[in-house]
Amino acid sequence: MPLPSPRRALIAGGSMAGLIAAHLLLRRGWDVQVFERVEAPLTSRGAGIVTHPALWRALEACGLDPTRDLGVAVRIRRVFGRDGRLLGERECPQVFTAWDRLFRLLRDAFPDARYHAGQAVEEVAQDADRVRARINGETVEAALLVGADGIRSTVRGLLLPEAQPRYAGYVGWRGLIAEAALPPAVHADLFEGMCFCLPPGEQMVGYPVAGPDNDLRPGHRRYNTVWYRPADEASELPALLTDETGRQHEGSIPPPLIARATVAAMREAAERLLAPQFATLVRLTPQPFLQPIYDLESPRMALGRVALIGDAAFVARPHVGAGVTKAAEDAEALAAALDAAGGDVPAALARFEAARLPRNRRVIERARELGRCIAAAGRPADETVREPSVLMRDIAVVDFLDAA
Ligand SMILES: Cc1cc2nc3c(=O)[nH]c(=O)nc-3n(C[C@H](O)[C@H](O)[C@H](O)COP(=O)(O)OP(=O)(O)OC[C@H]3O[C@@H](n4cnc5c(N)ncnc54)[C@H](O)[C@@H]3O)c2cc1C
Repeated sequence: MPLPSPRRALIAGGSMAGLIAAHLLLRRGWDVQVFERVEAPLTSRGAGIVTHPALWRALEACGLDPTRDLGVAVRIRRVFGRDGRLLGERECPQVFTAWDRLFRLLRDAFPDARYHAGQAVEEVAQDADRVRARINGETVEAALLVGADGIRSTVRGLLLPEAQPRYAGYVGWRGLIAEAALPPAVHADLFEGMCFCLPPGEQMVGYPVAGPDNDLRPGHRRYNTVWYRPADEASELPALLTDETGRQHEGSIPPPLIARATVAAMREAAERLLAPQFATLVRLTPQPFLQPIYDLESPRMALGRVALIGDAAFVARPHVGAGVTKAAEDAEALAAALDAAGGDVPAALARFEAARLPRNRRVIERARELGRCIAAAGRPADETVREPSVLMRDIAVVDFLDAA
């Protein structure tokens, strides 16, 4: 069989990591084909995304303009006590975007002919000259395969079966509330920034994001909340993931299927445990969604002609707010290494791995440290991490990487 073009790349996964890598390779003259398992457009799968300068730079490198309406710019952070009193405030300018907004920015600018929705990578094989992937039953060959297929990556599962997500011992209850639904007093306290509340062993965080269709007009935006609560893996998590019909879901549960009693118990706990501002938000959340928190550390990111990027390689707990930024940095490092290696794909991938493994490990470790503000698996919460000034300084801030 003739060799595939030396600049043909297959990308498994058409979400954040896959699309950023696809843009960067396409701009360098690669023949890129993206295969996304899900048929329907990947919108509304996440809520708020904290952005960092590295993400903005990566979007610019994709030829996109992140300065145009990327999200809601905020200036401050606040922590509220159980009684609603302000416990601390700190300046921290940041832009909060929405998952849908970022996805649309990346997807709309990428050629449809190169994006294959409803196509799953099922098998991977390689030799010295090429990599072969079976996609919806057909074999496709290329010089490079990028596994950008997320936390449950098929590509990683085939090549590094030992690298498995690890449950953190707690879940995040997420919610999105229309700005117009917020009572004025709650709006005044919370809407200007990233705000926290710290019930014993737990953490609530919220911040403003764009409204539907990236609506940034005051009054049309939304407030995004994530309430982290311990849930023991053996005795509590299975019940949370069991739907109304009694079926237990693995790893995550579609929001409309969460059992009514589970949502009612969470809402009842909100009234007892949260600052009144946040309890109001939980009451107003039309459809809460439940996300068990995992992390994942792969021992490798390069295996011959196969690279792993984004959540397929490393998943950080959300406290660093850096999942998409990390995915973007992986994609940029991959593109730069391919540039530098002059057509030698395995050499490029080795260089990419050397650049990214240590930094990604640092992100995972940092997210675990910050996660100690939540109790888990019989371990009490670490009160030093929960101190309001520390919390406001460290959550979703990536300055620690500059010192790495
Ligand atoms: C509660 C919470 C809050 C978060 N907050 C932030 C934040 O503030 N900032 C931030 O940057 N990040 C945040 N994240 C993390 C962020 O959402 C992820 O890091 C990011 O979406 C990872 O992108 P990805 O493309 O690597 O993976 P994914 O977005 O998971 O995409 C993987 C894609 O691969 C597809 N796929 C799977 N298997 C196959 C296959 N075999 N073949 C083809 N396609 C396949 C999937 O359908 C999916 O579309 C948060 C996460 C959580 C849980």
